[in-house]
Amino acid sequence: MTTPLWRSREPKSSYDVIVVGAGGHGLATAYYLAREHGITDVAVLERGWLAGGNMARNTTIIRSNYLWGASAGIYEHALRLWEGLEEDLGQSVLFSQRGVLNLAHTTHDERESVRRVNANRLNGIDAEWLTPEEVKKLVPIIDISPELRYPVLGATFQPRAGVAKHDYVAWALASGADRLGVHLVENCEVTGFTRNGDTITGVETTRGPISAGRVALSAAGHTSVLTETLGLRLPVQSHPLQALVSEVMEPVIDTVVMSNTVHVYVHQADKGELVLGAGIDAYNGYSQRGSPATIENQVAAAVALYPVFGHAHTLRTWGGVVDVSPDASPIIGLTPFNGLYLNCGWGTGGFKATPGAGHVFADTIANDRPHPLAEPYSLDRFRTGALVDEHGAAAVAH
Ligand SMILES: Cc1cc2nc3c(=O)[nH]c(=O)nc-3n(C[C@H](O)[C@H](O)[C@H](O)COP(=O)(O)OP(=O)(O)OC[C@H]3O[C@@H](n4cnc5c(N)ncnc54)[C@H](O)[C@@H]3O)c2cc1C
Repeated sequence: MTTPLWRSREPKSSYDVIVVGAGGHGLATAYYLAREHGITDVAVLERGWLAGGNMARNTTIIRSNYLWGASAGIYEHALRLWEGLEEDLGQSVLFSQRGVLNLAHTTHDERESVRRVNANRLNGIDAEWLTPEEVKKLVPIIDISPELRYPVLGATFQPRAGVAKHDYVAWALASGADRLGVHLVENCEVTGFTRNGDTITGVETTRGPISAGRVALSAAGHTSVLTETLGLRLPVQSHPLQALVSEVMEPVIDTVVMSNTVHVYVHQADKGELVLGAGIDAYNGYSQRGSPATIENQVAAAVALYPVFGHAHTLRTWGGVVDVSPDASPIIGLTPFNGLYLNCGWGTGGFKATPGAGHVFADTIANDRPHPLAEPYSLDRFRTGALVDEHGAAAVAH
């Protein structure tokens, strides 16, 4: 008989820590709570199935080349953890540092990109500016002719960036957490909180109330739905975000190429499918499906930039729900309620942060104060105005 990677548990009536949401962030948080802080009386409550949210719907791009120092801190922390994750968890997650390019198509793009390369270097992050010819050398299938609708004026390049296999990551984190004694509870939706004044004492769930010393929310877009039950409004909007894969093709591209202006990005999965992502749908929603027009624009742009894709057939498209904050940066930290912690607002780019977010969030929960890397991401910044505006680096999804 094969041994399952993790056990789906019945919930107990009480835990030291409850983590809401078994996406990558919730699982990583539980894993690091147990491994780094010795807090093992932990349950991860998931309303559906483990990693059935954005975790298994994303396009797996990992990079740390955001603009601001705060972002360099958290995303680079995550990238360093990715670099040791397989060894740490004892399982393959197909982490592949194949490099990520961000194309510039306009003079404005070019200036912004060069500024970002310089900022990245000052923050100790590997970053290069490539000419169109250098781009062509790395990505021979790209069209760099100047008469193109979206001429390639150059690109930023982060060689240490890349991809990992999202479901393997979830399973490896779940397995690691389970081995350390964490309870993973599926089909258990959190519907509200129990409280004593301003102190949270547990959660109400579809499987009954469960008490907890601390409650940590990692429920992506549904985090704001949950805090609304406490009268706490979060500045987070949920939007559909779509992606697609082609039929299996021969190897044609061995790096990741993104394009802010035309809202398309591409890499090739190990088994040969082209993985293409788009920008977010403009409207708000929780339906995990987006509009066909977005996919159409994305495919048209991809075929213009990479004419060989004209031969590929779309195998499937899908959508997730991304939780976008006003400055395109996450919210991590304490809340006005004792014992309630937030990790949300990762928008279109939270997969890359998975180990880093979990690591920093676990530390924040264990010590009841923000981890130094989480400090700039407090909820309070929307009151003080100390925003971490990453719209430039997050303009195309990821
Ligand atoms: C199409 C697409 C492509 C993307 N591509 C990339 C990419 O290439 N790179 C990148 O870095 N990021 C990417 N992202 C973003 C990334 O997927 C997310 O930012 C990241 O997965 C968020 O992780 P999470 O654990 O917070 O959320 P999720 O994985 O969504 O986990 C939240 C979990 O909470 C559960 N939940 C919700 N409400 C409740 C409740 N009341 N009770 C119990 N459980 C609840 C949900 O079911 C879900 O499983 C992409 C997203 C999409 C949709």
